[in-house]
Amino acid sequence: MDLGISGKRALVCASSKGLGRGCAFALAEAGVDLVLNARGSEALEATAAEIRSLYNVNVEAVAADITSEDGRAQVLKIAGQVDILVTNAGGPPPGMWTDWDRDDFISALDANMLTPIALIKALVPSMMERGWGRVVNITSVSVKSPIPVLGLSNAARAGLTGYVAGTSRQVASKGVTINNLLPGIHATDRAVSLDAGAAAQQGISPEEAKQNREAGIPTHRYGTATEFGATCAFMCSQHAGFMVGQNVLLDGGATVSTM
Ligand code: NAP
Repeated sequence: MDLGISGKRALVCASSKGLGRGCAFALAEAGVDLVLNARGSEALEATAAEIRSLYNVNVEAVAADITSEDGRAQVLKIAGQVDILVTNAGGPPPGMWTDWDRDDFISALDANMLTPIALIKALVPSMMERGWGRVVNITSVSVKSPIPVLGLSNAARAGLTGYVAGTSRQVASKGVTINNLLPGIHATDRAVSLDAGAAAQQGISPEEAKQNREAGIPTHRYGTATEFGATCAFMCSQHAGFMVGQNVLLDGGATVSTM
């Protein structure tokens, strides 16, 4: 399917690895020029080089912490006007509800709620002026079905989801859509570290922890960054102009609900 976005320009945050990287590849395949970002430059430059070698698109890479004001300023300076924004950052650490104090919540809110909101505020006005734009926020299955050990993530992402629910309705008449893409468990470094944490807690091997988790998913496997990226690219496509304020869940059926 031609996604109808060839020649558009996208900022894909936190995209040297994992789900953000999957989104970057899928957008590049659709002919979208990219601004990529991550803190570490080595993996970031490697991802940028791989995309340039595979697709005929322009790729710029900005090594910066997207959750800091300085980092965002660096990224936004290079990004300039973009047509597509994919927000993403690392997720907060797991733990118990008794572990977290105010500073932990402020960090989680900064990374997973206030950073995407700041990026939306910076980039959506010019999309509205030009009459077209797409924003996809990578959030988590935890907004539909809380993950008890990820209380910081549950809280911060629920806040972003509420903001998007209202704001997406305020900008839609200008051709700009804002939606959220909710990963369930996907085979990335994040999954490896969550499996390692579960293994340590339960006194089993990481491989056993993975197998236990896979057994609880109707697909009996983790999702892939490629599948995730393809869904993201569709949500950024011309065809998704009537999709507004939605929370698209990719979890292999793990969340049991009728709707
Ligand atoms: P990942 O494989 O660990 O990749 C994270 C990417 O984000 C890397 O490129 C990393 O590069 C970059 N990054 C992290 N913090 C950053 C920051 N402050 N500024 C800029 N770049 C940053 O993680 P993932 O699995 O793709 O997860 C992406 C998001 O989805 C996370 O918020 C995660 O919590 C959420 N999620 C993932 C899953 C899953 O199963 N994978 C499930 C639910 C939710 P650098 O380290 O070099 O910065």
